[in-house]
Amino acid sequence: MLAPRPTTTSESAKARRRFYSDLFRPLGFSLTLNFWYTAFFVLGAFLLFSLAYVLLVRQLRASDREVVRAKLDACRAWYAQGGVAALQDHFQAESEWEKESTFLEVIGAGQRHLFFHSPQRDEAILSRLQEGHEWQENDWLSVPSSEQHMVWTIVMTRLPDGSIMGVGRTTEDRDDLLRQFRTIFLFVIVPLVAFGFCGGALITYRALGPIRSILTAVRSIIQTGDMGARVPDPHTEDEINDLVTLFNRMLERNETLIGAMRESLDNVAHDLRTPLTRLQGSAELALQHEDPAQIKEALADAVEEAERLNAMLRTIMDISEVEAGALKLELETFPLEPIITALVELYDDVAQDKNITVIAKVDPAGRITADRNRLQLLLSNLIDNALKYTPNGGRVEIGAEFAEKEVRITVRDNGIGIDESDRSRIWDRLYRADKSRSQRGLGLGLSLVKAFVVAHGGTATVTSKPGEGSLFTVTFPR
Ligand code: ADP
Repeated sequence: MLAPRPTTTSESAKARRRFYSDLFRPLGFSLTLNFWYTAFFVLGAFLLFSLAYVLLVRQLRASDREVVRAKLDACRAWYAQGGVAALQDHFQAESEWEKESTFLEVIGAGQRHLFFHSPQRDEAILSRLQEGHEWQENDWLSVPSSEQHMVWTIVMTRLPDGSIMGVGRTTEDRDDLLRQFRTIFLFVIVPLVAFGFCGGALITYRALGPIRSILTAVRSIIQTGDMGARVPDPHTEDEINDLVTLFNRMLERNETLIGAMRESLDNVAHDLRTPLTRLQGSAELALQHEDPAQIKEALADAVEEAERLNAMLRTIMDISEVEAGALKLELETFPLEPIITALVELYDDVAQDKNITVIAKVDPAGRITADRNRLQLLLSNLIDNALKYTPNGGRVEIGAEFAEKEVRITVRDNGIGIDESDRSRIWDRLYRADKSRSQRGLGLGLSLVKAFVVAHGGTATVTSKPGEGSLFTVTFPR
């Protein structure tokens, strides 16, 4: 039999451990939270109950004492009316319940009992009282009964004839009531605590479900590198739902960005290959030739290719620098017209080769605040494109409008135009529309234009009609 692969075992053990820690970690966290909340409420309830309990005990004791004192007064009056005989008659006429719960004694001279009533013939009380218990008039005595759990509340008084009268009452009723009170507390608070803990833990566990889903998604992305993982919709209308939506949107953006980065890396690699191959070819040719003139020519080609490569890499780095916000502009205010005139002259040969009419209408008094070199570079890219993508005999117009808040420069041509589907993508690095592939180019010009304009705080837009021409507009804040 094949032994299980060690990695599989450790992986499955890891997965199992993670499952349990996932199961208990949020639960543990929520339990801790719940614990403190529940502890707080339980303590509050406990304090409230204790307060109510103490007040109840006091109230019951006070009403017990009131009853005992009333009884004492009554017994004293009966005794005063007709001595022990009258006391006996009246006491016998009392209800059974009254007799059951009342203790009554009259002690004459020489500790002789003139009257004694205790429902249990409670000798214990007697012996306690006879033990020479020190008592004062109106003192309350608590004397345990011989019967379990029973306590007598007794008050003693000295009668006018010198004898002592003691009247007492059991606290049984009161104890019963308090016992019930404690039982109710136990049956209410304990289930409440259990419900609080378990219910709270369950609710928190369920509420943390989407967070667990986010963790699963993140873990899957880290482990597989696949950015396609998404968190399922929690179908709620709360902040967790917002978090999940935003998280998914962030993943989507990251996926798009990473895709775009991969694509541009592929494009750069692809576009570098051609000039590099040509460079290698020229260098090899130079090595093969004997004739110094031919060697020179091959080396000149190699240098030209190297320059192209360099320019391409410089442009890519410039764009990256702008996108990273690291480009430092050297701003100055200067007239725009001389720059445009110089550029028109620079492209005059190309325009003449294609018989294209170039018209520049710029107010000589108009001034612009910009980084001069970068402005030249971006305008030359726009003019270069206009000439490149306009067939022979066409027309290119360059204009500028000096508004109050911005300078608007336009480059219009009546060339091949740009399809609607390409219009939003032409500003992307290395993007070239299919129909312009016959022309030289790297697909970097417009992304550089956009990057420079944005670095100046301006905008770059295009309107175009395929087959009729394009209008590029760049604005610079004043
Ligand atoms: P390149 O011109 O080197 O291809 P750019 O970034 O300058 O790269 O332009 C990107 C794409 O935009 C071009 O490939 C072309 O398809 C389109 N484009 C730019 N300018 C024009 C224009 N004036 N007329 C038509 N298409 C244009």
